[in-house]
Amino acid sequence: MNLSSTILNYINGELVKPQNNKWLDNYNPAIGKVYSQIPDSDEADVNAAVQAAEAAFPAWSNLSRVERSNILHKIANLIDANKTALAEAESTDNGKPVWLATRVDIPRASDNFRFYANAILNFHDESFPMDGKHFNYTVHQPLGVVGCISPWNLPLYLFTWKIAPALVTGNCVVAKPSEVTPMTAFLLSQICIEAGLPKGVLNIVHGLGHSAGMNIVKHKNVKAISFTGGTKTGAVIAAEVAPKFKKMSLELGGKNPNIIFADCDFEKMLKTTLRSSFENQGQICLCGSRILVEKSIYEKFKTRFVEEVKKLKVGNPKNDDSRLGAIVSKPHFEKILSCIELAKQEGGNVLCGGEAIKGEGECAEGWFIEPTVIEGLTQNCKTNQEEIFGPVVTIQPFETEEEALQLANATEYGLAATIWTENISKAHRIAAKVESGIIWVNCWLVRDLRTPFGGMKQSGVGREGGMHALEFFMEVKNLCVAI
Ligand code: NAD
Repeated sequence: MNLSSTILNYINGELVKPQNNKWLDNYNPAIGKVYSQIPDSDEADVNAAVQAAEAAFPAWSNLSRVERSNILHKIANLIDANKTALAEAESTDNGKPVWLATRVDIPRASDNFRFYANAILNFHDESFPMDGKHFNYTVHQPLGVVGCISPWNLPLYLFTWKIAPALVTGNCVVAKPSEVTPMTAFLLSQICIEAGLPKGVLNIVHGLGHSAGMNIVKHKNVKAISFTGGTKTGAVIAAEVAPKFKKMSLELGGKNPNIIFADCDFEKMLKTTLRSSFENQGQICLCGSRILVEKSIYEKFKTRFVEEVKKLKVGNPKNDDSRLGAIVSKPHFEKILSCIELAKQEGGNVLCGGEAIKGEGECAEGWFIEPTVIEGLTQNCKTNQEEIFGPVVTIQPFETEEEALQLANATEYGLAATIWTENISKAHRIAAKVESGIIWVNCWLVRDLRTPFGGMKQSGVGREGGMHALEFFMEVKNLCVAI
């Protein structure tokens, strides 16, 4: 596996330069320096990728599902075999601790390929016998060339979650990873070559959203767009895609409530709440950024939580004891710091954190921020309404179930929620009324790939995961036959 300082596009089975020979800097956020170059691809590269995908489609879609499944298994095995290099690459691109990439991101990427390699073998059509004179049956067919666009926070994991179901259903793919974290996608292209994926079946075009990304979205021969990223970008993509009636799946931002009742298992809740607030520097779309705590335990929670947050070590992502690494990029680092300033102007009281930290040794110029806890804000302020996507949480007390629900649902987002209570009836009652696509009760970030994944309200349209993703990447026809 070649950890090159020059990332190349993967088009028609080959690693190639962008046709315009323009390049973008790729930064290592923990040291604050450029460490590689990535293609600044444009329409010409996207057109070449779509052409390659169209040429590959007849043969790929005609393979048996077992043959396609076998190739996906090979890719999964090669991801596992290269786990260390991939985890280091992901950490270098993203700033997340290497231990986190090793334990979570990379295994989940190979899981994605393995899960869909198996799922397709269990996917079946349906038949509907009628009155003895007719019967109906369904036929699922791949769409053709599809586009997959992913963000920087869980680079390989989210990229592969789209690509795997798209490929196994017989589609050919033009994919774009985030320009902020492109290295693992580049390594994936090398893995696909080694696995014997036929040329043109998967094409990876690197570059900026408004050029490389938008050219995939706009291309008339790209039949569907599966996008994960910010809500504003989702709106731009939807405006382009909707009038063309392409299939579209949008997984967008969140402002997730973490609702803590007094009757919870306090120690278990505290331990998990530290993770759900600050894992990956709070840059997981499913992190709980608004912590709502029942008034009778609010002071106890505040004291213990702040005490534990202060102990979280922020530092070099290579160190096993760094619980938080670097913020992904300088612009995002500056955005998070400006959000903390805004919170103060809005009347927020910073209980801990709130400042940038200088890293040690090689990390002296890196972009690190202390885990930050803020109280005293109203629900309607910007801090509690807009996604910050960093190591910043607010805490607020509530008195009744009704108030907890009102606060939980009082944003435009509806991605995920967490509920902590030992009262099973209350858990079900509240969960049914929380406006979120995913609700965890007494746990967080537990993933079962068979389940639907996606958001309500401004957090997205459509569902990924399980058979939903297979369905998304296929057209279904109903055939009615007279006997
Ligand atoms: P982003 O929207 O800026 O970019 C996401 C991807 O879209 C990147 O590859 C980018 O290059 C591309 N892009 C940008 N503009 C585009 C355009 N006009 N046309 C086509 N492509 C374009 O998001 P980000 O900053 O990379 O990621 C963070 C966001 O992603 C957060 O809002 C987070 O909540 C969200 N997210 C959501 C989920 C989910 O499953 N709901 C998962 C992870 C991240």
